[in-house]
Amino acid sequence: MAELSKFQAFLQCKCPRCRKGNIFTGSAYAFRLQKTNEHCPHCNLKFEREPGFFYVAMFVSYAMNVAEIITIGVASYILGLDLVYENLWYYVGLILFGVLLCSPINYRYSRVILLHYLTPGLHYIPGSGDKKA
Ligand SMILES: [Zn+2]
Repeated sequence: MAELSKFQAFLQCKCPRCRKGNIFTGSAYAFRLQKTNEHCPHCNLKFEREPGFFYVAMFVSYAMNVAEIITIGVASYILGLDLVYENLWYYVGLILFGVLLCSPINYRYSRVILLHYLTPGLHYIPGSGDKKA
């Protein structure tokens, strides 16, 4: 298997150290609740680096939500929803619907952004976790 670039590993939610193991079980929009693996199934890296590590992902998720709210609001305006008081609840409804639709993606990528880009000392180690032949 060809090695993934950092961005490919990020997009595919792969472990930041070996870029082979999955960080999550299941897909983002499956009916089963998605779960973060405790350890990388390939190199055994512990994803929760310290107690409460994923609380920081909440701040990343917050930034993602603000970006989505602004995008949906501006897109609604550009697509023809007039900015008048009578349309207030249309804006609120569209924004809530969009944010709910994006929440599984926010859950995943806030943690992946945290692991790949915001954790000091966590780097790609080529061949980590490979079984010695
Ligand atoms: Zn790994």
